[in-house]
Amino acid sequence: MKKINVVESVLKANDALANENRRRMDAAGVLAVNIMSAPGSGKTMLLEKTIPLLGPEQRCAVLVGDLQTTRDAERLGGCAAEITQINTGRGCHLSAPQVSAGLATLDLNDISFLFIENVGNMVCPAAHDLGEHLRAVLLSVPEGDDKVAKYPTLFQPADVILLTKVDLIGVVDFQFEKVYEDLSRINTRAPLIELSPKTGQGMDRWLAWLRQQRRGQTGS
Ligand code: MG
Ligand code: ZN
Repeated sequence: MKKINVVESVLKANDALANENRRRMDAAGVLAVNIMSAPGSGKTMLLEKTIPLLGPEQRCAVLVGDLQTTRDAERLGGCAAEITQINTGRGCHLSAPQVSAGLATLDLNDISFLFIENVGNMVCPAAHDLGEHLRAVLLSVPEGDDKVAKYPTLFQPADVILLTKVDLIGVVDFQFEKVYEDLSRINTRAPLIELSPKTGQGMDRWLAWLRQQRRGQTGS
């Protein structure tokens, strides 16, 4: 009798394709970073500043997810070697099939980093493996110092946590200690980097982290 395959859940199907995406990027020698946060935390701005600072020897590709518009892709088009905008329509997160389709549009030759800018959302993007190697989670100062405790599923699997817009400290009430205290219960593995892509503060630490991860992948 013919074997009947059952896909137990949508998430299982997602994970299978995520593993395929990861194999594809491993084969191309690309380090993929999934960037997640609420809308307006500065994901696109971070990439606008990061990609030129990584230098010409680190060619970067970007997949950017939004419900509508190609605005972020237009913003990043000048600095990314390869870029594709994924419009999710009503979808509030990127999924592995969408990333698979996005990868098919990119030439990964000589690409060092693939940045995947997820849809701005603090809940379901964290539940969807896209095939990334690393997860970077942003929390911006104006969002408030209570978000780590409120959205633990986002912060728990993060490989690095970027506290962005620190130039607004003093303008809005924000207690660093609260974030550090909540993270001490949720995620002690990921480094927390305080930065402002706008002023450049902390960008050296973020770039050093990226380069270190890349060296870890290529073994050089
Ligand atoms: Mg954006
Ligand atoms: Zn969603």
